[in-house]
Amino acid sequence: MINYHPDSRMLNEFSAGSLPLAQSACVSLHLNYCSTCQRESRKLQQMGGMLFERLAPCEVDASLLDSVMSRLDEPAPLTYEAKTTATDESPALMRRLMKGGYKDLEWDRINSGLQISRLHTGDVENEFALYHIKAGRTIPRHTHKGTELTLVLEGSFSDEEGIYQRGDFLMRDAEHEHTPTAAKSEDCICIGVLDAPIKFTGWNYRALNPFLSLQAH
Ligand SMILES: [Zn+2]
Repeated sequence: MINYHPDSRMLNEFSAGSLPLAQSACVSLHLNYCSTCQRESRKLQQMGGMLFERLAPCEVDASLLDSVMSRLDEPAPLTYEAKTTATDESPALMRRLMKGGYKDLEWDRINSGLQISRLHTGDVENEFALYHIKAGRTIPRHTHKGTELTLVLEGSFSDEEGIYQRGDFLMRDAEHEHTPTAAKSEDCICIGVLDAPIKFTGWNYRALNPFLSLQAH
């Protein structure tokens, strides 16, 4: 049962194809688990198509046409297609990004309860990372300088506002301060997409803040 979804603005931008690649990948992965958002996204895409068809044809400025044509020669940006089945246990997009299992990834050890692995998406402005939180352990209390998207892949975690399970999608920003904690029964693996570094607020981790930088690639 999925309880947390992208908000309508984010789903709209996803459906229009205007989200940055790493954020789009995260929403796309949520759709693997969530038939409600799949349906909604399909509806938004159809509505977008209908609006586009209704636009009256207009005279196109020749120089504008030239510039559009010249852009067609540029390499097309990488896009991800949303999967259409909600029951897929191991999303194709995740397999493509990881090129192997969790054990094959390079993990940076933050402390004894937390490891992070940054994956390559081709988006140089948004970091796309896996967080492995050991059972019962926490990501130190932090707030955000930008937007943080989170999607649970394995296990579950909780923070001050709720409990999040596989497929749940969260968006947090500078207004939120939280301490994500994995369930005691099993390790939690989740995706985190950041457009700016997080900021630790606990006294024992605050000294690390100047060293936090995005690793988007
Ligand atoms: Zn959803």
